Amino acid sequence: MTKMLKGIAASDGIAAAKAYMLVQPDLSFSETSIADPEAEIKRLDDAVATSKTELEAIKAKAAENLGAEEAEVFEAHLTILADPELLGQIKDKITSDKVNAEAALKSVTDMFISMFEAMTDNAYMQERASDIRDVTKRILSHLLGVTLPNPALINEEVVIIAHDLTPSDTAQLDRNFVKGFITDIGGRTSHSAIMSRTLEIPAVVGSGNATSEVKEGDVVIIDGINGDALVNPSEAQLAQYQEKAAAFAAQKAEWKQLKDAKTVTADGKEVILGANIGTPKDVEGANDNGAEAVGLFRSEFLYMDASELPGEEDQFVAYKEALEGMNGKQVVVRTMDIGGDKELPYLPLPEEENPFLGYRAVRICLERQDIFRTQLRALLRASAFGRLAIMFPMIATVKEFKDAKAIFEEEKAKLISEGVAVSDDIEVGMMMEIPAAAMIADKLAKYADFFSIGTNDLIQYTMAADRGNERVSYLYQPYNPSILRLIKNIIDSSHKEGKWTGMCGEMAGDQVAVPLLLGLGLDEFSMSATSILKTRSLMKKLDSAKMQELADKAVNECETTEEVEALVAEYTK
Ligand code: PEP
Ligand code: MG
Repeated sequence: MTKMLKGIAASDGIAAAKAYMLVQPDLSFSETSIADPEAEIKRLDDAVATSKTELEAIKAKAAENLGAEEAEVFEAHLTILADPELLGQIKDKITSDKVNAEAALKSVTDMFISMFEAMTDNAYMQERASDIRDVTKRILSHLLGVTLPNPALINEEVVIIAHDLTPSDTAQLDRNFVKGFITDIGGRTSHSAIMSRTLEIPAVVGSGNATSEVKEGDVVIIDGINGDALVNPSEAQLAQYQEKAAAFAAQKAEWKQLKDAKTVTADGKEVILGANIGTPKDVEGANDNGAEAVGLFRSEFLYMDASELPGEEDQFVAYKEALEGMNGKQVVVRTMDIGGDKELPYLPLPEEENPFLGYRAVRICLERQDIFRTQLRALLRASAFGRLAIMFPMIATVKEFKDAKAIFEEEKAKLISEGVAVSDDIEVGMMMEIPAAAMIADKLAKYADFFSIGTNDLIQYTMAADRGNERVSYLYQPYNPSILRLIKNIIDSSHKEGKWTGMCGEMAGDQVAVPLLLGLGLDEFSMSATSILKTRSLMKKLDSAKMQELADKAVNECETTEEVEALVAEYTK
């Protein structure tokens, strides 16, 4: 029977493929006493051997798709599997306690995990704890005869169905086979959704029940434009899907014509359309989609892709590659924004009740200056290879900005005294994503060279609605007059000081928001690369004076988000 799933449209595009359930199986078991330890040891040996074959295949695939460094984690797992000390203790326990292999495995590995985890000042050992946990899960799955999902081994076209995907799960998806993904939870601005747009695969998030409604192997049509999906569609529905997919492809081809054009409104006003990127590899997609700048390089993805803190040299190479790839166009690199939903396994942060309100981004950098200074030095060295701008994330106060800027100036002076080539016109700006900062934008504009409005966070903090929680997604209202007033204050304050304002939150590419933002005087719009061409096409149809009138009305007269939407429709008819 055909079923319909409704969620949040997270990434454009339409696809049909078999479902791949990326769901953790039930690994529960009970401890039992056994009569034949030899047989039990054999069960363990078999499960270890199968795990080994599986891990070798995953490692080879990871090396091929992601590079040798990414494959190293699986090498670590293989080393644990071959550890005679660990296996010996498990076997001893089976023999001495006469318990089943599952119970012996769990008891011994738990002991090692607790021991390593207790070494809180040793990131290396903490990582080993997490490796042992993964390996235990794998052996246990074979003892229990259940299958763990292995997304790295996917070798046919699939639509992934998952409760949630972490940014690192998303980074591992192979675009050749993964045609889309549907999750139970998440919002349009959760980081896995943002990455799906960079990867240009359709995604529907926050469906509520995909993992319970879909079974492995079901045929799924995913529609990332409307945010819905059909499970086991009829022939007629499949034909309809093909028509829709063809129309979408034709529309994309038409937009492609604008790739090398400037972004100009109907009345001749020019604005800049930039791309948001996560790694230098994304520069190619930015250029293919006609980006005039990189308005946001989420540098934390360099940290998340590594297995230890990336050093100055590795970072320098990455920033230089992005700057050279953009060929003289501006690249705004945001300094590390770890915390919230972006974790680093090798930099364990204390458990927090409210990670999005916690120890995050510049708050970490001002304390862990070793990490911050390394990044700034790498950026400064790279600045000689293109047009670099730097911005600090999550600035709430004037003092935070001044402190971060002072550290930047210190590192710059040091490098210059060491005779290193450094550009002398690096703009240093800040993200505007905390309401407190937006309210004192006039003060901050005296110090920052530019602002970049991070609406993904600004909206969640203004509305007090978690950006990744689909239950409160109705409050996630980019066009609410409250948000528009903050944006207006930010843009006007920067202009008064002769500075500029960009926007790198997802709102910048939102087709209803664009007319409003143009009217509010936004200078630069930075978005997922795949939204650039359709936005350029929209800009051609808009008259900036008329949009100014629209924005004035929305800010001063509208009471609700619905009223603003209706007004935009009226002004863009
Ligand atoms: C934002 O908050 O709008 C933003 C661009 O940063 P991130 O989505 O990475 O938090
Ligand atoms: Mg943010």
